Amino acid sequence: MNIIWARSLVSLVLLAIASAAIGAFAGVKWALAFALAVLVVQSLFGTYHTERLWRLLDAPVYGQVPSAPGVWGEIYYRLHKLAKRWHAQVRQVEQQHSRFIQAIQASPNGVAMLDDHDQIEWCNAIAEEHFGLDAKRDLRQHITHLVRHPEFVRYLNSHRYEQMLVMRGMGDKRQNVLSVQVFPYGENRKLVLSADITELERTDSMRRDFVANVSHELKTPLTVLSGFLETMRELPLDEADRARYLELMEQQASRMRHIVDDLLVLAKLEGDAKPPSDHAVDMIAVLRHLREDAATLSGGRHQIAFDTDDSLTVTGAETEILSALGNLVTNAIRYTPDGGSIRVEWRLIGGAAAFSVTDTGFGIPAADIPRLTERFYRVDRSRSRDTGGTGLGLAIVKHVLQRHDCLLDVKSEEGRGSVFTVRFPAQRTVRRQPQPA
Ligand code: ADP
Repeated sequence: MNIIWARSLVSLVLLAIASAAIGAFAGVKWALAFALAVLVVQSLFGTYHTERLWRLLDAPVYGQVPSAPGVWGEIYYRLHKLAKRWHAQVRQVEQQHSRFIQAIQASPNGVAMLDDHDQIEWCNAIAEEHFGLDAKRDLRQHITHLVRHPEFVRYLNSHRYEQMLVMRGMGDKRQNVLSVQVFPYGENRKLVLSADITELERTDSMRRDFVANVSHELKTPLTVLSGFLETMRELPLDEADRARYLELMEQQASRMRHIVDDLLVLAKLEGDAKPPSDHAVDMIAVLRHLREDAATLSGGRHQIAFDTDDSLTVTGAETEILSALGNLVTNAIRYTPDGGSIRVEWRLIGGAAAFSVTDTGFGIPAADIPRLTERFYRVDRSRSRDTGGTGLGLAIVKHVLQRHDCLLDVKSEEGRGSVFTVRFPAQRTVRRQPQPA
């Protein structure tokens, strides 16, 4: 027997005893009247609390427990305990839900959930950005009313989602590329995942262009070489022609070797660790090398002047810096006609080291300047070939400068000449006491 039955039984027994006592002293009439009065009061008390409980269940106020004597007090207390337990459970589920939402929001991919009618149930901020949606406004909207790209509509309706869909022309500027895949789940529900692959596509197309360019660059000298080989094998040549042909073949082989060497330099630059920031380059030795190489390459055809501050140096990788600055000096000589002049300066400008090469050469049209550092980009293809260029020199310069946090500034005027300036950052600039000669 539980406590409620026990209490009711006890109160009935007490009522019976009290009524019997009243009956013995005052007669049966008074005993019945007393019992009836007690039962009426009990019933009113019960009705009052039943109604109170009804109202409480209708509009519960969490945390407010009505007080009442006896069983009703116990009922209210137990209800309160139950509500408290449920409240804690609901809060736990809410917290889990909000952590789950936060995790999906933090995802770098777009996530949209569709119901069984392909209506948007929820989407994260990245999906809003990818598809131009508004999570609040577009809720319960059919997704194809908002994402109207025919290929997306076709893909969604095809119910074949093993492959992902590539959507081009997305984003505000219609320049983005998205990869989209649908994953069915639950009861006819769908999860739409999207990723921005614009950068990936760009790198992939750059890689394809690069392979095509390398093949083309190597194919030209290779074709010339095989032509000469065929001629030598099939035609009877005198000694002079033979020597001339061999020299031309040697030139083509050397061109190919230069291209391969420069490609290896580029590959090494891309793969190597960042140059040291605590190793001071022996700039006096670098400038001496540049001066000697310039004199050899020019062979007295140009006036070359060096104006350098020998107390100034920078931190970084010496061989890389020599190769980058060397490329700029070499270009100035190669693209300046005989009799022109070249001036190399190494100075402190605004607290940072700057290296500049000024020439009075052919100059570069303004439209070509932004593209100079692209691999195999040449302003004048035949001029570059005549001077033995690979089209990779300035690409190497760009990489070395990026690795040393430097900036390259190019100023040029067609027919008048160019100025290439490398600005080192102040953090890499070091001033030394000049060494005694
Ligand atoms: P290349 O091996 O053809 O010289 P670079 O990458 O070194 O390749 O240079 C790219 C192009 O920039 C060259 O083909 C040339 O047209 C142009 N260029 C570079 N330096 C100069 C310069 N000092 N004067 C004029 N044109 C230049």
